[in-house]
Amino acid sequence: MMYPRFSSAWILVFVLFFTFAACENEFYEDDFAPIETPDNGGDDDFGDDDFDDDDDDDNDGSGAGNNGEISVELSGDGGIAVYRAFDRQLSLVEKEDRGDAWMQDPRKHEEMWDFVTDMIPNERLRHLYAFEVFDGDNGLAGYVYNLTDNLQDWMFALDIRQAYPDESTMSKDGEFVHTLIHEYGHILSLNDEQLDPNAGNCQNYDTGEGCAFETSYIDEFYERFWEDIADEHAGTEGDPDANYDFYLKYQDRFWSDYSATNPAEDFAEVLTYFVALDQEPTGNSIKDRKIQMLYEYPELRDLRDRMRGASTLTMPASGRFAAPKCRHAQRKGVELLNR
Ligand SMILES: [Zn+2]
Repeated sequence: MMYPRFSSAWILVFVLFFTFAACENEFYEDDFAPIETPDNGGDDDFGDDDFDDDDDDDNDGSGAGNNGEISVELSGDGGIAVYRAFDRQLSLVEKEDRGDAWMQDPRKHEEMWDFVTDMIPNERLRHLYAFEVFDGDNGLAGYVYNLTDNLQDWMFALDIRQAYPDESTMSKDGEFVHTLIHEYGHILSLNDEQLDPNAGNCQNYDTGEGCAFETSYIDEFYERFWEDIADEHAGTEGDPDANYDFYLKYQDRFWSDYSATNPAEDFAEVLTYFVALDQEPTGNSIKDRKIQMLYEYPELRDLRDRMRGASTLTMPASGRFAAPKCRHAQRKGVELLNR
């Protein structure tokens, strides 16, 4: 897994605000909390063996913002290279000799990033502070997390195996593009223009990372498509079987079973199908209305056009992509004392 790791050598009190989102192809049994659990404590998901770096001062909740350099580091599990991203340029921060030799080719990393920047408009790239290439041999396909608690600066990470299924030619279709769009969907819907991470008394949808602005995509999405089933959904949190039953019950609402995980995952999945479907659905099902909602935003139609222009993404013959398995967790003011 690609979880941040805390060294047991750290002897410090640590305040952390952290969001993590990961996708993998296979369902994996772990204890990562669903994204919309804002008060999940913080004592459950980050094992003591779960952070293998030696920096004492990063992710310390100080909200480095844009005034200083934000600490970026390679993930301990599968990370091959992590780069600081300056719009369309990459600058290497750290690398590890992991995976097969072909995975370490920086030209492939640059090609992946070029593709990301072809897919995502320049003015939106500012939220992508760092880019990691990792070996997803454990089934992980991609993930994002916010590097600062103000939700401005994000890590964007993609599996090089999924990018290069034949080890030489980068895919611009299929699951790799699905992963890319899905992960970007999280940054699109959870960044500082969409959420207020410091709202005291949230009157709108609280994603866990922050309180959604009334004009945000996720708040509108939640109000239209989730509010009526929110209580029922809450009872399935942390219980994959119950959540799957919940999905089956409301199958006509969702594009994939993974969408039933929570509204943020649903939004990320809907964004992918919004891009991949050749036509706007005309039906009146909630599932179709979710896609129709995204068509209401001119800037999202522009994003769709751009992504379709940059990729060769097509809907699979089956009518659905393999469900990504993502996990999100957030930590707000968690105190860890490792000795
Ligand atoms: Zn996700």
